[in-house]
Amino acid sequence: MSGRQVVVPRTPTVGGTGSSEEVWGWAVRREWRDGRHDLFGFTADRHMADRAVARDRGFWRVGPVRPAAVYVVAANASAVVGHPVSGCCDSSCPDSPERGEVR
Ligand SMILES: [Zn+2]
Repeated sequence: MSGRQVVVPRTPTVGGTGSSEEVWGWAVRREWRDGRHDLFGFTADRHMADRAVARDRGFWRVGPVRPAAVYVVAANASAVVGHPVSGCCDSSCPDSPERGEVR
């Protein structure tokens, strides 16, 4: 089982408002105790993101190593696609405080 699916919707630009690279949606951010983070699983659907977080938490719960936190962040599609899936320590990455909304 993989908890690292990356889904990139190829949504055509609606109404010619801009580049498809500026599509906003949600991604899963996984924080590690050493300060690194992972960012993956971009989706335009908030419920899909919530489910991905729940699935990821369940995955780590049974393992010997656990992330410090897993939560949904609002993110730009291109930011997620261009982001290393794991081991990033760039503090400018998407990290909006959404974690209180995840059950
Ligand atoms: Zn990062």
